[in-house]
Amino acid sequence: QREPAPSAQVRDARAQDAAVALDKIRLESELREALERRELEVRLQPILEISTNRVAGFEALTRWTHPERGPVSPADFIKLAEETSLILPIGDYVLAEVCNALRRIGGDGDAAPFVALNVSGRQLDDPGLLDRFLAALVAGGVAPRRLKIEITESLVLDYERVSGIIARCHGAGMKVALDDFGTGYSNLGHLHKLEFDTLKMDQGFIRQMSDPRCYAIVRAIVGMAHSLDCDIVAEGVETELQLRQLRELGCRYAQGWLIGKPLPVPEALALL
Ligand code: C2E
Ligand code: MG
Ligand code: MG
Ligand code: MG
Repeated sequence: QREPAPSAQVRDARAQDAAVALDKIRLESELREALERRELEVRLQPILEISTNRVAGFEALTRWTHPERGPVSPADFIKLAEETSLILPIGDYVLAEVCNALRRIGGDGDAAPFVALNVSGRQLDDPGLLDRFLAALVAGGVAPRRLKIEITESLVLDYERVSGIIARCHGAGMKVALDDFGTGYSNLGHLHKLEFDTLKMDQGFIRQMSDPRCYAIVRAIVGMAHSLDCDIVAEGVETELQLRQLRELGCRYAQGWLIGKPLPVPEALALL
């Protein structure tokens, strides 16, 4: 017996799925070309030490401006890169750019500015990743402690894996930050066993800090970080009021539009 012919609605939906899939394939090959042509740009967003009003370091954020589509959001192209393993060569490219930037920033000693680099789970599955990172740092003459690896909170679900990664980063002298803290994945029962150097409080908390209950939560997170001997960064700081509140709470670092957008490297260097 033959299947009934699909309704017009089903046919439309299938055609739409096919179009989306095709667009994704096209975007993937364009992303690959962009990488080859070095059209991906690594920008640096300043991170302020609140008490001294000094730029203590930067977060590297990658930008892709497509020749016809215009800027493509990292949320889209990083996700695509993760799905296709393109994230591995992209990650190596971003690291090379970060090493160059660190060399240009210069300075040594404990107060030398750091650069934080986002690393996705797919990259951390690559057993050679940290050795390659270390080799690039050594070749560039950059002290490994000036590189901070940012691991997103959702990865912490896999406690064994994350504690292994932290140990290997620390063994190589690199720092590790827990990104997007508070988005709902961290198991507080595991957190005390994970020796993160920095907690990055998710911007969702900062956005709502004018609400006293949210302010109380931010205060508790700052206190917890201090007790764990962990540095704390507030993400998404957009207003003077938020910065003032964070200062009151003794939060060490702030990052967000108020302090600065992700900047081309020369502009970032000029802030120092
Ligand atoms: P993330 O690591 O949490 O980075 C912070 C995001 O918040 C960035 O978005 C940044 O531009 C944005 N942001 C900073 N300050 C403010 C603010 O005051 N207000 C608001 N509304 N947003 C602010 P972006 O650049 O779109 O990146 C999104 C995510 O893509 C990043 O989230 C990171 O997880 C990922 N990503 C970006 N570059 C890379 C990369 O080179 N490698 C990997 N693996 N992931 C990357
Ligand atoms: Mg980050
Ligand atoms: Mg991140
Ligand atoms: Mg974040």
